Amino acid sequence: MTDTSRTARRFGLAASKLHRTSPDGGLLTWARESGDSIRAMGLRLHAVGGAYATLSRSASLGGYEGLVAYPSGGEGGLMRLVSHIAGGAYENQALDGIVYLIDPVDPSTLYPEAAALKRQCVTHQKPFISTVAGAIEWMAVEGAHAGVVDDTARGLLDVSKRNLALIAHDALKAQMVEFAADNFDLLSRAVSRVATGTTGQRLNELAWSRGWPRATPWVHRYLSGPLGGDAQIAELVLDQRCDKVLFFEDPHVARQHEADIQLLERSVCSVTRHATCANSPAMARRWAVAVGIASS
Ligand code: PGA
Repeated sequence: MTDTSRTARRFGLAASKLHRTSPDGGLLTWARESGDSIRAMGLRLHAVGGAYATLSRSASLGGYEGLVAYPSGGEGGLMRLVSHIAGGAYENQALDGIVYLIDPVDPSTLYPEAAALKRQCVTHQKPFISTVAGAIEWMAVEGAHAGVVDDTARGLLDVSKRNLALIAHDALKAQMVEFAADNFDLLSRAVSRVATGTTGQRLNELAWSRGWPRATPWVHRYLSGPLGGDAQIAELVLDQRCDKVLFFEDPHVARQHEADIQLLERSVCSVTRHATCANSPAMARRWAVAVGIASS
């Protein structure tokens, strides 16, 4: 039964033109794959102009009462999503996360409001989902938390099919080690694990302290992020040798290698149907809990 009560989770939604203009585009692919579970959960979708228009005409979500229209990007729709992720200027506007299907060569994805949208999600530890694969997977994550797991969701949340990248900025390295310690068995089931240099060292030390064979690294380490490690991992993503990036980002400091960080996140969007990215500890933990539910 559809639940559109005030307790339903609320996600902001936007999509680059590429993703909203064709029947096999990312937005309608997502609606076809996840429409039933969105309706079953009563998940509310606060959708910016073009994304709203596309979905309201779709077979999967047309007429869905949880679909809410925001102004177009040019009229401030994306800016309002940023405010609502932070809690909003007025009562009862807060959103729980964002699905923003990004085409990395669309210049509008470089506008300040686009960067602010991700940054406020990271700041407020709310999910920011930028790829088609991520949007489909995340509906399975939300479903698992709501107690709805079918075989499709079990497949989407099967960590034994995932090639993971684990990266944390300095202020968040302790949280990354804690996350890995709390989810050590789960993460150890992945096909492969890679990391940037310093994060990887900390994670291997954790694994060895847990009895992982000393001769085998738990993660394969690339260079440190500022020396090019993010770019090396981006190449793996582009080659579809890494399909889930867990990147604990520090939104509160200027980063010398900001361009590399953006490069990695945009590489994920370049293979939008294959790769996903989680930018904060809360997002990674919510995923891990769902993986645990789906495999129990
Ligand atoms: P590090 O790199 O793990 O080598 O510190 C992380 C980053 O800043 O990208």
